[in-house]
Amino acid sequence: MHTQHSSAHSCAQGHAHCHSVPPSTPGQVRALSVALITVSCFSVAELWVSAHSHSLALLADAGHMISDVLAIALALWTANQVQQAKSDRLNAVSALVNGSLLLLVSGWLGWEAIAALRSPPTGILSGPVAITAAIGLGVNGLNAYLLHAHAQDNLNLRGAFLHMLADAGSCLGVLIAALLIAQFGWYWTDGGVGLAIALLIAASALPLIRQSWATLKAMPQPKPLSD
Ligand SMILES: [Zn+2]
Repeated sequence: MHTQHSSAHSCAQGHAHCHSVPPSTPGQVRALSVALITVSCFSVAELWVSAHSHSLALLADAGHMISDVLAIALALWTANQVQQAKSDRLNAVSALVNGSLLLLVSGWLGWEAIAALRSPPTGILSGPVAITAAIGLGVNGLNAYLLHAHAQDNLNLRGAFLHMLADAGSCLGVLIAALLIAQFGWYWTDGGVGLAIALLIAASALPLIRQSWATLKAMPQPKPLSD
C-alpha cells in the first residue's frame, strides 16, 4: 500500500497536534491500528467502571479516551483515502465536530467537578478506580512506546506519541487520587483530578476548533461531483 499524501491540513489528533502528513507506511498504520483497538476496548471498560465506582476523574478520562478513538479512527481512515480534496474537507469537518463535542463535554465535566469539590462524594470505590487507572497507564504507555518508533519520520505520529504520553499522565493522576482516597479518605482529590482533566480537554479542543475552522474557511467551495 502506497498512498502518499502531502496535504497541508490533515488533523489526525484529538489534541492540538495538527500536522501535515497522514500515516502511510504499513508499520505506521499497524501502530495506529493497535492504538485504535486497545484504546476503544479500554475506554468502554473505563466508562463502565466509572459509572459503578462513582469516580468523576475516571468518567472524565473515559470521555477523553472515547474522543481519542474517534480521532484515531479518522487518522486511519484518512490514510486510506485516495481522493485528497474530499478527504481534507471531511477531515476538517470531523475535527470541528470532535472539537465542539469535546468543549461541551469539558464544560459539563468542569461543572460536575466543581460541585464534587464543594461537597466531595464519599461513595467512591477507590479499588476498582485504581485498577482501571493502572490498566489505562499500561495501555497508553504501550501505545506511546509503539508510536515512538515512528515519531521521528512522521509529524502526525509524533503528535500522537506526545498525546499518548499526556494521556498516560492523566491515568497516573486518577491512580494517585484513588490511592489517596484509599489511604487517607481524601475524596476531594477525585473532583480535583476530574477538574484538571476537564481543563486539559478544553485546552485541546480550542486549537482543534480554531484550526479546523480556518481550514474550512480557506477551502474552495465543493464542486459538483462530475469527475
Ligand atoms: Zn487523549
